[in-house]
Amino acid sequence: MKIYRFRYRKKILYGVLKEEFLFPIKGSVFGDFRIEDSPVPISEVFILPPVEPTKIVAVGANYRDHAQEMGRPLPEVPLLFLKPSSAVIGARDIIAYPEMSKQVDYEGELAVVIKKKARQLADDDPVEEHILGYTCFNDITARDLQARDVQFTRAKSFDTFAACGPCIDTDVDPSALQVKTFLNGKLRQSGNTRNLIFTVPFLVRFISRIMTLFPGDIISTGTPAGVGPMQPGDRVDVQIEGIGTLSNQVMRKTE
Ligand code: MG
Repeated sequence: MKIYRFRYRKKILYGVLKEEFLFPIKGSVFGDFRIEDSPVPISEVFILPPVEPTKIVAVGANYRDHAQEMGRPLPEVPLLFLKPSSAVIGARDIIAYPEMSKQVDYEGELAVVIKKKARQLADDDPVEEHILGYTCFNDITARDLQARDVQFTRAKSFDTFAACGPCIDTDVDPSALQVKTFLNGKLRQSGNTRNLIFTVPFLVRFISRIMTLFPGDIISTGTPAGVGPMQPGDRVDVQIEGIGTLSNQVMRKTE
């Protein structure tokens, strides 16, 4: 099932995609809901970010090839950082190139969307019931500021630096998904989640022992090799097998 969050006639709705139509749901996307029989053509809606997370937990250096290209040792435990909810944009939004940076990179990633509160999960606790599904994520990074600052916060947190969508897919198997990033239509990153150093179930359990994960929170699982800079005017697409394509334009903010 592909679940979209969208605006239609001034209402914000969740809906399930069937062919080219969205069928709105009644109830909570994180709990019980039913699918209504009042479809809207997807071409007539404005697609919104699939969730409004309380936080985004991102994982650094979680693919061997990317750790190597960044000159980082392979982590023994997940290297975590946070991105603020204020950075979230959806699949139709613009990435704003900040004045403070001279190198803004894309990082295509598979992201997990939390369904049910997760806290202190044990090794034998089932993880699946805490996961609603998966989405594409672009962990946009001001690389020059990341190199300059000790903390990742400034480099990772500009408004619009957490692009996600276009939908939440509830059926894909996260253990072997092809993740590709295209810059202006040219392939720049091609990885597979089978090469993740820390798997999705491991990450959900590990993070739940540090901080409570709430419905709608996002865990972005890290990026494969091939990260690189974007310029104002560029289009960046993060495409994940079975989920879809997250497509955003980069612009210098004028206001
Ligand atoms: Mg990343």
